[in-house]
Amino acid sequence: MTGKILFTVTESPTQPQSPFPTQTVLGVPVSLVNMEEVLEAVRTWVKGTEPALIVTADATALVIAHENPKFKALAQQAKLVTADGVGILWALKRMGVANPPKVSGVELVAELCRESAAYGYRLFFLGAEPGVAELAAEKLRLCYPGCNIVGTRHGYFTPDDDSIVAEEIAQARPDILLVAMGMPRQEEFFVGTQAITGAKVGIGVGGSFDVYSGRTKRAPKLVQKLHMEWLWRLLLNPKKIGKVKLLPRFVRLLLTEPK
Ligand code: UDP
Repeated sequence: MTGKILFTVTESPTQPQSPFPTQTVLGVPVSLVNMEEVLEAVRTWVKGTEPALIVTADATALVIAHENPKFKALAQQAKLVTADGVGILWALKRMGVANPPKVSGVELVAELCRESAAYGYRLFFLGAEPGVAELAAEKLRLCYPGCNIVGTRHGYFTPDDDSIVAEEIAQARPDILLVAMGMPRQEEFFVGTQAITGAKVGIGVGGSFDVYSGRTKRAPKLVQKLHMEWLWRLLLNPKKIGKVKLLPRFVRLLLTEPK
């Protein structure tokens, strides 16, 4: 199912790329989709001719987009920008979207492993520290027997080596490239190397491999339900404070943005 298709990002997109209804938040069209709709779309896109980027966005992603025009253009041209966090859900509600759906990168990884077992998708895990993506893959293969993870690689290399890494990935002929290298690096890698990797679908999945490898513990279900997983992760990993500090900025930007 692979092919060499050039992913182009234009400076000023005129049309939203998402085939789903969207609500623009700080200039980024957030898709109002639930998990089943995302999976249905992926089933089509892996067979299609156009590469598809899926951004799983939390509030900090929108602040990054606000400050980084290149990333903003990329998010505007993604097939989907899913709402992945309490801040963005709050923003959507404030803009009048009743019950906005959440699709997190972590949950999407598991669901795609399930789909891979059912439909034979070839998945490649790129990112996290050496050994982490491999461990995550081993654990997910046990949870979803038959899931077809065709390769893994750590995410510690410089953009100068992107083409070399992309050639390595291309050897595995993935349909879907899951990239866990932090934002905006992970999305830029997919878009910048898609013509080499040939992966039809690319998804930035942040800290997901750390979670599935067991390196980061997921919050208890109740904490997840309360949408407080970000606070849980912060308590376990104070290095995340940099991200949390962006939240007041997100709120300020929203409150000053015309509704
Ligand atoms: N990471 C990487 N290469 C880098 C920097 C980070 O592979 O050069 C990985 C890091 O090891 C971790 C993930 O990127 O697995 C972190 O992503 P992010 O901070 O977006 O995680 P989130 O806060 O969304 O859980």
